[in-house]
Amino acid sequence: MQKVIYLTIDDSPSPDFAEKVRFLRAHAVPAVFFCRGDLLAQQVPLAVWALRQGMVLANHSFTHPHFSDVPVADGQADIRRADELLQRVHDQAGLPWTRKYFRFPYGDQGDLKRGRLLQPYAAIPQLADRRRTRWLQQALAVAWPARYAALVRRLTATGAARKRQLQHCLAELGYTRPSLTPPVRYGYWHQYEGLDWPWTFDALEWATTQPQPLGSIGTLAQVLARLDLPNPPDLRGPVPEPAYGPAVPGSAEVLLLHDHAATSAMFYQVVRHLLARGVVFGALP
Ligand SMILES: [Zn+2]
Repeated sequence: MQKVIYLTIDDSPSPDFAEKVRFLRAHAVPAVFFCRGDLLAQQVPLAVWALRQGMVLANHSFTHPHFSDVPVADGQADIRRADELLQRVHDQAGLPWTRKYFRFPYGDQGDLKRGRLLQPYAAIPQLADRRRTRWLQQALAVAWPARYAALVRRLTATGAARKRQLQHCLAELGYTRPSLTPPVRYGYWHQYEGLDWPWTFDALEWATTQPQPLGSIGTLAQVLARLDLPNPPDLRGPVPEPAYGPAVPGSAEVLLLHDHAATSAMFYQVVRHLLARGVVFGALP
């Protein structure tokens, strides 16, 4: 069975955005670009051009905050501001905006998990209260387990309420997360609650530019090698699957790449590597 991958690209548009659009068109690779409003505002004519090239542009918030770190009202306003700009871009292109997609920066749904989607609250270091260091939280868990359990319960309830309010905003604006054909078959994907788009595999090419290596990724060779692993580590927590990723058959994948000028060369290498492996890039609904 052929492996199908849906390509999603975050943090657009970079100075290399047009080049990426041309590259994807040349290779007949469909993609969704999740755009930051603050960057999009500086490149409106280019975004209009990309829409007319058949690209899908989507909402990745305006200022790209960690939604767990901002008041809910501010988060909602940020989503709406990017929504209004994307609507203007579609209007200028003379195209109806029928496919409205949203992805939270860092995959952070504003639920106080800060994107640690695959971990229970109790296991997340530096929960919402960032004054607590990781060791202090662990010490609290050991020394005062009842108090720690109460803290986790409080954060869980607060987080759930915050998430509901942000999801309500997405629903009001008409955002959807349609089912994919062929589908992602991972159990956790289907338990994911939200109109926003998560991913199944983050290429982590962006990690090579971080001052501290993340997930043991520091070079292009490591990024490419990770594409072929049956159990690649995920920064969101342990993936509850025996095997997953671009090299594993059986499920479609939602691949996350970034439109960062600093890693554009890796962007092309990752796509070329997957094409060479015989992957099919699936059309997004
Ligand atoms: Zn982002």
